[in-house]
Amino acid sequence: MTTPTKAYAAKSATTPLGPFDIQRREPTPMDVEIEILYCGVCHSDLHVARNDWGFTTYPVVPGHEILGRVTRVGSGVTRFKEGDLAAVGCMVDSCRECNNCKRDLEQFCENGMTMTYSSEDKHLGGMTYGGYSQRIVCDEAFTLSVPKNLDPAAASPLLCAGITTYSPLKRWGAGKGKKVGIVGLGGLGHMGVKFAHALGAHTVLFTTSPGKVEDGKKLGADEVVISKDESQMAAHAGSFDLILDTVSADHDLNAYLNLLKVDGTLAVVGAPPNPQPLQIFGLLMPRRQIAGSLIGGIAETQEMLDFCGEHNIQCEIELIRMDQINEAYERMLKSDVKYRFVIDMSSLS
Ligand code: NAP
Ligand code: ZN
Ligand code: ZN
Repeated sequence: MTTPTKAYAAKSATTPLGPFDIQRREPTPMDVEIEILYCGVCHSDLHVARNDWGFTTYPVVPGHEILGRVTRVGSGVTRFKEGDLAAVGCMVDSCRECNNCKRDLEQFCENGMTMTYSSEDKHLGGMTYGGYSQRIVCDEAFTLSVPKNLDPAAASPLLCAGITTYSPLKRWGAGKGKKVGIVGLGGLGHMGVKFAHALGAHTVLFTTSPGKVEDGKKLGADEVVISKDESQMAAHAGSFDLILDTVSADHDLNAYLNLLKVDGTLAVVGAPPNPQPLQIFGLLMPRRQIAGSLIGGIAETQEMLDFCGEHNIQCEIELIRMDQINEAYERMLKSDVKYRFVIDMSSLS
């Protein structure tokens, strides 16, 4: 038995998203069924809807910043009950047995994580469908608890934009006495600025948008650099411990490598579709590293949500209706988001 569920899908790389009916499975004993209240709009949704990365299977229902209310739970579920707030991020399952799963790195499951959308659906066959929909059914092990003091709409983007910036900042030691750069003030970048500031680092925002300077400071940046201004960039040469790059399009990574100290790290989370040229000498002299990071494991995602609850950190959002999604994508491509679109899913019913 399945439950008919309204959703929004892209049917090809060039067609706008529109209404699409999907089915959700009957909860198994370990499942939580969630009525989706809010779903954040990640730039990855746009990359996948438009097949920028070349692996999209259509139709695709994007959305992996899901927050809602529990409507039913399976008999084996212990952490959630009907009426609770619950959240689902970028993955809904993994093998849970491989070395990486055992290390709480389900996103690197050796047998392949099941992504919230665009993965093989192990229960119903076909592909998994994401949060641009009325409800989702997810294993309790991949369902997150949301601190009660956070606003549900403003908390939803934490499920991707939050964890994707929190995880590398923690891993590469953002904190007191460290100089940390965040490149790009979009959905990920604005959370990067908030987290780097909350962790106690001297936080520098790099933006291409002069109109975002004041916001950057309000969000927690100690300094803001217009990255197109060579003299502003040169003033920071060789001074950073860590730079987190969230940019979604082609840009010059070498300009940021040159701002790192010896053993400094350029951690890339933005996923431009094209290869980005690298000047190897920028790595050699002085010794520097470039690294990547992908979302975060389930335990770390819960840690991040709890950290946000304790420090009252949430996202800056613009609430939209489901039928405004295509317009929102166009604005995202123009870097015109302050700073995350969130879909009010009640607009779908
Ligand atoms: P977003 O809200 O659109 O923000 C991207 C920001 O990058 C823009 O606001 C802009 O900031 C800057 N930017 C855009 N085009 C640029 C260009 N041509 N040159 C320089 N800067 C440019 O996107 P998002 O949702 O934060 O996602 C960012 C990227 O991260 C996407 O590629 C997404 O797929 C990827 N992502 C990766 C992971 C992961 O696990 N690694 C998870 C989620 C998302 P300014 O206006 O301040 O310059
Ligand atoms: Zn995302
Ligand atoms: Zn695994």
